[in-house]
Amino acid sequence: MTDKLSTFFDSGIYRFENSNAVFIDPVRALNRSYTRFRVSPSAYYPRFFDSKPAGEESKVSSNSRKRKRKEKKKKKPHALNEREKIADQRHQEVRPLLLKAHECLMRETDLLEVMSNLRSDFDSSRGCGDSVSPGVPEQSFVELGRVWQAPLYEITLNFDQCEKPNADGGSPIMQYSEQRVLPIFDNLVLNEMGDDVEAEFLNSRYVIPRESSFYMSDLGQIHNLIPADSGCGFNLIVIDPPWENGSACQKSRYPTLPNHYFLSLPIKQLTHTDGALVALWVTNREKLRGFVEKELFPAWGVRYVASFYWLKVKADGLMINDLDLFHHRPYECLLLGQCHGKAMDSKCLSKSKPVQDNQIIISIPGDYSRKPPVGGFKPARCIELFAREMISGWTSWGNEPLHFQELRYFIRD
Ligand code: SAM
Repeated sequence: MTDKLSTFFDSGIYRFENSNAVFIDPVRALNRSYTRFRVSPSAYYPRFFDSKPAGEESKVSSNSRKRKRKEKKKKKPHALNEREKIADQRHQEVRPLLLKAHECLMRETDLLEVMSNLRSDFDSSRGCGDSVSPGVPEQSFVELGRVWQAPLYEITLNFDQCEKPNADGGSPIMQYSEQRVLPIFDNLVLNEMGDDVEAEFLNSRYVIPRESSFYMSDLGQIHNLIPADSGCGFNLIVIDPPWENGSACQKSRYPTLPNHYFLSLPIKQLTHTDGALVALWVTNREKLRGFVEKELFPAWGVRYVASFYWLKVKADGLMINDLDLFHHRPYECLLLGQCHGKAMDSKCLSKSKPVQDNQIIISIPGDYSRKPPVGGFKPARCIELFAREMISGWTSWGNEPLHFQELRYFIRD
């Protein structure tokens, strides 16, 4: 096995030589957060593998075929309006970089071989999802958080669980040495231990990574996360807002918010004394890019520094859509900016390491809108806003940060 592949198996990151691109397997990258569990590849990757359930695959591909047909019909010469022209210009600028990165991927035959098996990696027959009765719906934290009883809901964290042999010869009995019962909404729930912890809420179980925390609330309560001392603020702030989108399919998956709501995010107050790198996921809509550049970043006190691109491929390495499909590009953009901390002077600024522009992250997409983890910056304190999952060393905030922490997404190690 090549060194690059063995590094990939450990870290989930494959670096292409002389290139600004990396391939990421989010399953392996996320697994670094866990000691007793592994993320289940078959639960992470419900799409873009041939082996997916026939019904869904054909639904997705027939939808995308319909969409492509529509696109083709629409494509007949129609003059681009001013906004579309700017969007097209942005696309033309990034296009050669994406093609070059994609060529790097397609040259790595060893990696392509590994990619085709990513969904069936590890023994998925031991998936914890087996313990969930088929058809049991996932908990809707978004809805539960809105009901009047929300302040009464509690989560139980079971620390130091161990298996004890069953005297009757049946399956082993789980024993917990400490249980903590905490409000699940509008409360910082913390696992400060060096091991992941299993938690229970209503009839479902969740995995909480080591040294991580979540705060589950509506946007209206985010100010509760502002530290009293900015020395306890964050050095990396990743934000994936629920932007309003024309796509009907996305509308039903989570609630969205009009752009002006995001102006009130307290980015400056969440920033560490030594400053923060802010990473914001944006869609390819030109109107949104304009809003971020002209209104949002200035309102947050963020100075733009670089753009990264997430190129989405299928298990065979091909892009999920034609690169030039106007409304369904196979890539998304992560805008990076710097927010100054209170203790930053000009010396501090000149010392801060510049972020390289136009880096490309290639991966096979997971569930709808699920982004690959972007945590390779090694800052001390990280927070994800509008999170649906947890990562070791991070605080996750949003109205459903436990969504992908349910046991059905894991395999017991
Ligand atoms: N980054 C996430 C991932 O990779 O899975 C996806 C985040 S998704 C684009 C946006 C999230 O914001 C959804 O979980 C949605 O429920 C949440 N959200 C929507 N309205 C919210 C609100 N008013 N307060 C807090 N979170 C909200």
